[in-house]
This record gives sequence, C-alpha cells and structure tokens, in this order.
Amino acid sequence: MKSHLLSLCLVAGASVFGAEAQPLYLDSSQPLETRVEDLRSRLTLEEKIALIHTDSTFTTAAIPRLGIPVRWMDDGPNGVREDIAPHSWQPAGRTDDFSTAMPVGICLAATWNPELGYSEGEAIGQEARERGKDIMLGPGVNILRTPLDGRNFEYLGEDPFLASRMAVGFIRGEQSQDISSCVKHFALYNQTFAPGRINVEADERTLHEIYLPVFKAAVQEAGVWSVMGAYNQFRGQHCCENDYLLNKTLKDEWGFKGLVMSDWGGTHNTREAALNGLDLENGLNRESHNRYYLDQPYLDGLKTNAFPMAGLNEKVRRNLRVMFATHVFDPGRTNGSLNTAAHQAVARRVAEEGIVLLKNENHALPLDASKIKTLAIIGENATRLHAHGGNSSGIKAFYEITPLQGILNRAGKDVNIVYSEGYQKNGGADLAERAVAAAKSAELVIYIGGLNHDEGFDSEGADRTDMKLPYGQDELIQKIVAANPRTIVVLEGMMVEMDAWLGQVPAVLQAWYPGMEGGNALARVLFGDVNPSGKLPATFPKKLSDSPAHALGAYPGTNGTVTYAEGLLVGYRWFDAKNIEPLFPFGFGLSYTTFEYSGLKLVPGETGVTAEFEIKNTGAVAGAEVAQLYVHPEKPGVPRPEKELKGFKKVFLKAGETQTVSIPLNRGAFAFYSPEQKSWVAEKGDFKILVGGSARDPALQGNFRLAETVSEKD
Ligand code: BGC
Repeated sequence: MKSHLLSLCLVAGASVFGAEAQPLYLDSSQPLETRVEDLRSRLTLEEKIALIHTDSTFTTAAIPRLGIPVRWMDDGPNGVREDIAPHSWQPAGRTDDFSTAMPVGICLAATWNPELGYSEGEAIGQEARERGKDIMLGPGVNILRTPLDGRNFEYLGEDPFLASRMAVGFIRGEQSQDISSCVKHFALYNQTFAPGRINVEADERTLHEIYLPVFKAAVQEAGVWSVMGAYNQFRGQHCCENDYLLNKTLKDEWGFKGLVMSDWGGTHNTREAALNGLDLENGLNRESHNRYYLDQPYLDGLKTNAFPMAGLNEKVRRNLRVMFATHVFDPGRTNGSLNTAAHQAVARRVAEEGIVLLKNENHALPLDASKIKTLAIIGENATRLHAHGGNSSGIKAFYEITPLQGILNRAGKDVNIVYSEGYQKNGGADLAERAVAAAKSAELVIYIGGLNHDEGFDSEGADRTDMKLPYGQDELIQKIVAANPRTIVVLEGMMVEMDAWLGQVPAVLQAWYPGMEGGNALARVLFGDVNPSGKLPATFPKKLSDSPAHALGAYPGTNGTVTYAEGLLVGYRWFDAKNIEPLFPFGFGLSYTTFEYSGLKLVPGETGVTAEFEIKNTGAVAGAEVAQLYVHPEKPGVPRPEKELKGFKKVFLKAGETQTVSIPLNRGAFAFYSPEQKSWVAEKGDFKILVGGSARDPALQGNFRLAETVSEKD
C-alpha cells in the first residue's frame, strides 16, 4: 500500500523538475554511485541532517521537493511487526498489519538448512514490501554466550559458522525483495541485563573468532545493506559510537558500504556519534530535535567547524546508497505480498525442520492415531499464543495454530482428546491434581510446557535468573509420569534443566517458538507425517553452572563491566575443553530413521581440501540428516578449541537410499586470528577432520596435512 503512496510522491518529485531534463538520480540506468552523488549534491545542510535521524518511532522524514519519500523501518527477525504509533511504543491500532509469524531465529537455526533461511528471508521481504517498509530490523545474530540471555530465542545459536550460514541465506532472500536487511546487534550484545550500561571486555581473538564472523559474513557474503549497533559498550565506548567496531573493523577492514544505525536510544554523545561511524540515529521523537544527538547539536557543531562536513556527507551517502540499492526511486520496485499460502508453507516447513527430537526410547514416537483411543494433552503451552510475545520481535500473527489445535486437526475424530492446563503463572492448587486425573484417564499423555515470553524468560527486557522450568513444571511432570508413564514431553522456548524427569519419560521434543504454523508442524512430527530433522544450534547443559560464563562467574559482570573470561571457549568449545558431559550436545537431534556414515575421503585441492563420504538411510522411513564436519588441530602453535564446526550439509534420503556428500574446506577453515598480524593464519601441520551427526558423535575421522602456513588479512 505504501509503495503506491511512494509512486505518487515520486511523480510529484519528478514534476518539480518540470521541463528540465530528468535529474541523474532518477535515471535508473545510471550507476548507483552517480545517482547517490547527484542526489546528495542537491540536498541542503538541513535536509542532510533530516536523513540521519528518525522523526517518528520507525521513520525518517520525507523531502518532497526532491521526491525523497518517508523511509520506513520495522522489526524484525520473525516477520513484519505490527505498525507502531509515531511517537510511542504503543501499537498504531491498525487492522491491516497482520502478517506471517515465522518460527523464531533459534528454530530457523535448528533446521541447519540455509535454503530455508533464504525462503524465510524472502517471504518476510515480500511481506515487508507489501507493508511499505524499506529496512527490516533483522536478522538478530548475537552468539548465545549464556543460556540466560532473554533474547537468545531471536538469534541463531552458539556457533559462528552455523549462524553465518543461516544469516547469509536469510539476508540474501530478504534483500532479493528490494528491502534492506539490518543485521543486529553489532556487537557483543550477549545479555539483556543492564544493556545500555554494561561494558564488555573481550580479547581480540575472541572478538574475531567468535563474535564478529556472522557480521562479517553478512557484510561480505550476503552484502547486507544495514547494520544496527548494540546497546552495550565495548572497551568503554558504546557500540553505536564505537570507532574500533564501526570505522576500523566494519567499514575500513571489511569494506562495508551501507549504513550503520543505532539501536533505539542507543546513541549517547554527539561527538562520538558524529565521528565514530554512526550514520543513522534511531529513537523516539521526543518533541524536541535537540534531543537527537545527530540533529541540532550536530548541526551546530558542523556550523562551527567542530565536526567536518565530509563526515556528514559520508553519512548521507551511505543512507542514500541503501535507498538506491533497494530501488526506492525506481518505478519497478517490488510490490510484495502478505499472508499468502506460500508464506504459511514456509513458516510450517521451518517449524517442521527446526523441531528437535531429543529423546525417543523404544520408538515412543511417532504416534499412530489409529491405535489411540484417549489422548491427554497437558500444559499451558498447548493453548498459549506466543507469536506476539518477546517484545520487539513479536508479530501480530494473521493466525496462530497452537499445539492443541494442531493435534486436534491431525488426530482426527476417532481420538478422544482431553485437555488439562496443569500449571499457570498464578496457578490454582487443583491444576496439578486435575492434570494427573487427565493423565490417568488416557492411554497416552502429551505434555506441552517449557518457557514463554513473559518478562524474565524469553523476552527482550530481562534475562532469565536460572535455567529451570518455571511454575513448578518439574514437579508436575514427575506427578504426570507417575500417573501415566507414556508421557511425551514437548518443550517450547529455550533450553532448561531436565534432570528431575528426563530419565522417566520416553520421548522429548524441543519445539522452540515455532511460529503461526507451529501447532500443525508439531502434530505432523508427533504423528510421523514429518520425520524430525532439527539439530541443536546450542549446547544444552545439564545445569547452568556447567556453562562457561557461569562456571567462571563471568556473568552479568561486576562494576558495570563483563569480561568474557572464557575467551574462545563458548558453547561446545568449553564442554570439549573441560570435558563436561552436556545434557544434549551441540548439533544433536534424533530421527525416526537411522543413518550410517562411511567412506571418508579427503581430497586435497588448490585452496584446501574436500571431504567426501557416504550417508545411508538404514531405516524404514525417509528422513534427513545434518552431516557436520569439525576440524581438530593436532598440535596448534597457539591455544585453540579442541574442534570447530567448519562445514555441514543437510541430506534428504529415502529409506535405504545412499548419497555421496561432499563438503569443501578452504584454508580459512584451518585458520585462527592473529592479533599481532591482524590476519587469519592457517598454520602448516596436521589436522583431524571429524564427520558425524553431532559435536559428540564423530562417525568418521580422517587426517589432513596443511603443507604451508598461509595468512590472509581480515
Ligand atoms: C531492540 C532492537 C529493535 C528495536 C526497535 C530495540 O529495543 O534492541 O532489536 O530492532 O528496539 O524495536
């Protein structure tokens, strides 16, 4: 709809030039940089300033005399957020801003399928265009450092390689729709606790090897057009005004040509905002322009030569570049589409491939509806809507299939389904008793619990305080299992401790927040229409104190600073180094079939080596396996993680089918970051290549020798 307004605006803009020849910037046959310079040269000082800060919650001002339309941003990673009122965080109250609620980022990452990342990004891009948006505030790619981060669900897990592959797919898909993605939050925003105040200290290797690679891949491989700075500080300077991160790393070293925006309210100082790489200041219009650091105070500084004019021109150039790259001024810009069956199919497919089967004793799953007379569904999450929750990433879903609805749809009328809530935030005393009675009355129980988006669980605004199931669910599950041992547990949300009951239940599924088609996807997994193929994008520790930041007391920081004392040893790297048995390892996930790996060959090539091997589906049903490749340096010259993920491939196999898989590794796969040389160094020497179905399941191993040391600039 807004695109139509835009064309009117452009017509108006063009008419300003009357009989004059069409200005260069409106001529889409001109090179992008020519158009940027032409338009930039026509702007007054005040107009330039108007382009570098918001004038309402999610817009920058139009400049009608030049045909520059209002520029719309919107959250976010899981779909297009409902419209927000211009000068507050309240919903705008529209009735046309429902959209497709995709599964959250962690569920997308659990698919280990970058093509699905592309499809999800593409669908969100199409919806964003139909809703008149220009820049979408996602994907969120911060590394899962602690299980407690209230925003982990938005992100892509603990491993930089996996997260990079998924983010690159997503951004390419979204940006194919004339939308700029905005990868966030740059950088080291790994806790929600005191985000605006906390200062993060991390060493150079940790920064480059763990926390920056996803952003670098977004810039260099996906060509992302926008980057959002994080709320926190890094080495004493706010990330939205951080010279080292923004100027030196992102722009100088990586060659980023797009715009850097602040998070909302993440700007703190005019001088730093002016000089340290910020191009667009975002926040609420607080009635007075003086309140924007990049408005009147910046203008004053430019007029008195306190700040160079070249700095402003560079910010403007970057903002305009993104507008031209997304065809804002071109008549043929994509129109998009909203709430289509195709988008719903993407939402369902991501959920189906992202749900992880954690345990399945004696083939407890899949269920056979023809053999069940009475099925008890227990747990508040069976009926709870999640899509709108979590804060900035919430979606006003066109509809949302709950797990209960999905199971009712799928089970058919011959299965008698009883539902009991079991627990509630302010639950009454008899909820558990009634659930136990329901469990006793049925042949089989599906318990659907876990976390939700209330503040203090999986939500922007606060971190979790522990890793336990809330609302007495541990006790409740134990009572239910005592009443009916055939209890399948389905958990929504992020990882929780499970020791109280894991040994007693036959099957567990991790369903994250699976989006508006989640209930259907879950039912299809439970009843075997879909064979689960999700794999964990993060280690599930047995207990919180097993995970690195907590074992070291390096969370949430002291005196306003959190030091990443675990360094490179994030996630499985820590569990390997300290020999700690996780509850479920990184990369883990079961299937209704079995796979056999064989025949690993390492074929050296010009730029590295290719691992070739076979995978056979040795079971009776079709399924998909994510083959993972980890590199282990035998005798590294510097301390390195025991092994690191450097390749993976999701392979779809019919029953009995064998496929040859080939995973290329370039020399970068063997490299570490050398702060002295400011380069990636692949040291000559021996490496072990481990291939298998999780970080703790090396089905195949091979040896590879790198003959020469090579280094490459960051
Ligand atoms: C969040 C961002 C989000 C922005 C706009 C901030 O609070 O950190 O992720 O894009 O709000 O809603």
